[in-house]
Amino acid sequence: MTDKYAVIGNPIAHSKSPQIHKMFRDQTGEDISYEAILAPPDGFASVVERLRKEGYKGCNVTVPFKFEASNIVSDISKESLDAFDAGHKADAVNTLVFRDEKIIGHNTDGIGLVRDITNNLHFEIAGKRVLLMGAGGAAYGVLHPLLDKQPKELVIANRTLEKAVQFKKTVEQTTQFLTTSISVSDYPALSGKQFDLIINATSSGLSGEMPPLPPGIFAPGALAYDMMYGRETPFMAFARAHGAAAVSDGLGMLVEQAAESFFIWRGVRPETRPVIAALQQQ
Ligand code: NDP
Repeated sequence: MTDKYAVIGNPIAHSKSPQIHKMFRDQTGEDISYEAILAPPDGFASVVERLRKEGYKGCNVTVPFKFEASNIVSDISKESLDAFDAGHKADAVNTLVFRDEKIIGHNTDGIGLVRDITNNLHFEIAGKRVLLMGAGGAAYGVLHPLLDKQPKELVIANRTLEKAVQFKKTVEQTTQFLTTSISVSDYPALSGKQFDLIINATSSGLSGEMPPLPPGIFAPGALAYDMMYGRETPFMAFARAHGAAAVSDGLGMLVEQAAESFFIWRGVRPETRPVIAALQQQ
C-alpha cells in the first residue's frame, strides 16, 4: 500500500516539496505519495492529528509552523524527546514521523544547508569566520549543524538585536562543547569586519530588501549563501558586486533537507544532484 506524506504550511501553493519528493520516489521506487496541505494559522495541530488518524506516515512542516511543531511533539510524546536530535535543540521542527502513538520531530534544514555548502559547493566550514544573518526559525534550525562543522567564529546579526541575544543564550544552553567563538551584532557594528561565509537566513529578500551590510565584508574566497531560492535576491546581487568569490541561493539546501527527511522516513538516501539540476532548469 502507498505510504502517505505531506507538507503543511501557510501559504503552501508555492512549495516545491511535492515535486522534489515525487522525483525522489521515481528515482528510488519507494511507494509513497506526497501532497501540500494548507493549514489555517490556528489549525496546525488539528491538521497533524487528522493526518495521523488517516494513517499518514509523516509530514514536513514549513512557515509559519516550525516552532509550533516542536510543541506538538513534546506535548504528544515526551518519550520521543529522546529520539530528538537537532530538531529539539533548535526548537524549530520541519520533519515529523508518525510511529505508533508517537510523533517524533527532526530538523533537517541545518543538515541540508551544511550538505549543500560542503558537498555541492565544496566550501570547507571548519576554521572559518561565519556571519549568520537573522534570528528566526531558519536561523535557529541551521545553527547546531553549522557549529558541528567547527567554524572559528560565528557572528549572529539581526535587525532586532534582543532576538539575536536570546538566540545566543539558547545556543550556549544547548551546546556542550563549543569550539566556536559566538557573538551577536547589529548591522552597523559589522563595519570593518570580514567573513569567509555569510549566510542570509532573513526573509528580507521576500520584500526585495537586504540587511544593511557594509561594503568590504567579504573576505577573499568568501561564499555568500542566501537561503531564499527562485530568484536573485538583493543580497546575492550585493555579494557579486562586493567581492564574494561564490554566490548561491538556497535551492540546494531545499533539496538536501528534503533528501534527509526522505531518508528519515524511508531509510533510503536519494541522489540530490539530478533533482537540483532539474529544478535549476525551471
Ligand atoms: P522568520 O519570519 O522566522 O524570520 C525572519 C528573519 O528575517 C528575522 O530575523 C527578521 O528580523 C529578519 N528580517 C526580515 N526582514 C528583514 C529586513 N528587511 N532586513 C533585515 N532583517 C530582516 O523567517 P524564517 O527564519 O522562517 O525564514 C527566513 C528565510 O529562510 C525565508 O526567506 C525562507 O524562505 C528561507 N528558508 C529557506 C529554506 C531552504 O530550504 N532553502 C529553509 C528554511 C527557510 P527581525 O527579528 O528583526 O524581525
